[in-house]
Amino acid sequence: GNGQRDRFVVIGGGISGLSSAFYLLKQAKQRGRDALVTIIDPSERIGGKINTLKRDGFTIERGPDSFLARKTPIIDLAYDLGIENQLVGTNPKAKKTYILHHGKLHPMPPGLVLGVPTEIAPFAKTSLLSWGGKLRAMMDFFTPASKETGDESIGDFLTRRVGHEVMERVAEPLLAGIYAGELNKLSLASTFPQFREAERKHGSLIRGMRANKRLAASTPTVATRLPEAVKNSMFLTFRGGLNTMLEALHQSLENSGVEWKLGRKAMAFRQNDPDEHGNDSPPYEVLLGDGEIIEADGIVITAPAFDAADLLEPHMNVDALHAIRYVSVANVVMAFDKSTLGIDFDGSGFVVPRTEGTTITACTWTSAKWLHSSPSDKVLLRCYVGRSGDEAVVDLSDNQLTEAVRRDIRNTMGITAEPLFAEITRLHRSMPQYPVGHLQETAKLRTKLRAQMPGVWVTGAAFDGVGLPDCIRQGKEAAIGVYKSLVG
Ligand code: FAD
Repeated sequence: GNGQRDRFVVIGGGISGLSSAFYLLKQAKQRGRDALVTIIDPSERIGGKINTLKRDGFTIERGPDSFLARKTPIIDLAYDLGIENQLVGTNPKAKKTYILHHGKLHPMPPGLVLGVPTEIAPFAKTSLLSWGGKLRAMMDFFTPASKETGDESIGDFLTRRVGHEVMERVAEPLLAGIYAGELNKLSLASTFPQFREAERKHGSLIRGMRANKRLAASTPTVATRLPEAVKNSMFLTFRGGLNTMLEALHQSLENSGVEWKLGRKAMAFRQNDPDEHGNDSPPYEVLLGDGEIIEADGIVITAPAFDAADLLEPHMNVDALHAIRYVSVANVVMAFDKSTLGIDFDGSGFVVPRTEGTTITACTWTSAKWLHSSPSDKVLLRCYVGRSGDEAVVDLSDNQLTEAVRRDIRNTMGITAEPLFAEITRLHRSMPQYPVGHLQETAKLRTKLRAQMPGVWVTGAAFDGVGLPDCIRQGKEAAIGVYKSLVG
């Protein structure tokens, strides 16, 4: 540093980058230091994947739509930003989730936690699974825990514990909502380490998940503070959509004098040679697409893995980043007049196993799940397409895509009405797939980076959790890490 002002560059203006900037400034304040943060993003709009659209009285999310209430980092940030009173939960009357099976919607049996049964009676009764499949799942009680210590795929793990049928018909479609992935390729250790923990501690996944549930129920309403009105909801968002958080972050960063470089890409960065530049010059320089150079004491890279790899490749081996494949997805949001449908939406929507052969992978009954999202005489549906192994669909024309989705909602729900409007969002290479061994490989890369270029941090959804709360936590960890390496 130059002893006066700490200069930081944050690459990427998504939630990870904005949180990094927010917590860098908070660190500076706590340490009694003066900091200047510059945020770079090729987009003119901040927020990255977060993208709320207001239209005709609807609040439409084109990207993420909510977050898990029990994950504290986002709740803490909401309080820090003073927007906690704008949190809203899901409609308590729409708790049910359905699964499509042989073309029909079946309610998900109560007690399923992330696709794992924790209550035996409803599981035994469900029409979703064959008797053979249910019995195979119960073998979990008698199968000893694996003695292997390395990572494995979630698919292999679940097949080993509860059998192929539960994996394919229940777990994959439910978990696919988060990764759009193939469970046979996703790392267990980086996605659901609690599954492996449950097996290890209890000798049974089902017993372990039951114990976790009991523990959660007996621990006073989570570790986090939450406004009374939303205490009973598993998922939360903001009344004005996730954009509420972006606006509040933008305002707070603006007040702290953050410098925005929007519509421009970070092309490269380099380490200055103190012999050449003297000890007073800052250690790093970041080059922007328009030729501008920004000096920095610390850099936080939050771009997706493939973009981060471009920035880091000149300095080190980035195989760990290249190993993270990104799946393309799209969603089609459709609005209807309630009176034209005649359907009672008594749940939050449904998910679709691969084997059903539909174009859509899931459908959220948004207006039923989130009462704030729609006028009360309207219905809003959000249909998802694209998953690992089935991505070409994302590039169908608008007409083809809408037609395919309308065919599916006709066949599954009997909806033939003309939508009032449809909003299509394509998200190319948007869902990172953590490969088996991801934790170890990325840890190695980061250790090397820290040794070679102290003050440079690489983080974001590509690393340790894709959920918004995980991204915020990672942004905070980056801020603390960068400041530590700068001033201890
Ligand atoms: P991003 O939002 O991708 O931001 C990275 C930024 O880096 C981008 O703005 C990009 O333009 C910028 N960038 C790239 N290259 C450069 C460069 N060279 N220089 C400068 N900037 C660069 N999570 C939930 O918790 N709940 C949900 O309901 C949910 N639903 C989702 C639905 C979809 C369709 C998708 C795609 C994701 C969903 N997620 C959800 C996950 C979550 O939205 C993301 O993991 C999270 O928003 C990623 O934030 P990020 O800042 O790490 O990355």
